[in-house]
Amino acid sequence: MTSASPKRILLKLSGEVLMGPGHYGIDPDTVHRLALEVRAAQESGFELCLVIGGGNIFRGMAGAAKGMDRAQADSIGMLATVMNALAMQNALEQVGVDTRVQSAIPMSAICEPYIRRRAIRHLEKGRIVIFAAGLGSPYFTTDTPSAVRAAELHCDALYKGTSVDGIYDADPKKVATAKRFDRVTYDQVLTQNLKVMDASAVALCRDNAIPIIVFNIREQGNLARVLRGKGVSTTVGSAA
Ligand code: UDP
Repeated sequence: MTSASPKRILLKLSGEVLMGPGHYGIDPDTVHRLALEVRAAQESGFELCLVIGGGNIFRGMAGAAKGMDRAQADSIGMLATVMNALAMQNALEQVGVDTRVQSAIPMSAICEPYIRRRAIRHLEKGRIVIFAAGLGSPYFTTDTPSAVRAAELHCDALYKGTSVDGIYDADPKKVATAKRFDRVTYDQVLTQNLKVMDASAVALCRDNAIPIIVFNIREQGNLARVLRGKGVSTTVGSAA
């Protein structure tokens, strides 16, 4: 990084990446590897906030599709994100990184409640803050809370670490000729319905001029490369 002041970023990880080679839940070795990468990002001068999804444990939509009440199912999904946040906090602290978890659903026995100004103080003190339980409201995934927290905390960018290396014009798992974009605009994503993040998250980032960088976090060392502007990724911004 060239700038003297630290850049503040929000890193959103899909819950799935915590499964590692497994098909469900939390793989401690994988979480440890991710913690080392997050620590390296911090050491290179970034202030980091994290949002971790819950898809490795439970998604409300999946429960609703099987007949559960959507709001109730989403509450379970939000609790899944708290489990992931605590697992990541544990891994980060084991590698010496001071970390706080703030939950949108207060759970004072295990973490702090979400308090924006306190989160900013933590970041200024060099702590990593993990935001759990989304927005505390059903009918969202963790995409929109990521965009909301990125805006509230004046993050310079939202990095979405997932299992694919960017945004494609078609599903690369189904269409062999699918092409990855290096850059796309927010409006392109919205009008072409490109699968990146929920539309509400993309619109929020557009309205607050927060670039979204989508990259594959499963690939070891990729976070550092992408933060240096080197790795394979797609950037969503106002100009293509
Ligand atoms: N969720 C919610 N409100 C929020 C954030 C999350 O109800 O503000 C629930 C929702 O059921 C969601 C689940 O938490 O499916 C887990 O989050 P997500 O699906 O984003 O996980 P990911 O796909 O990123 O692993």
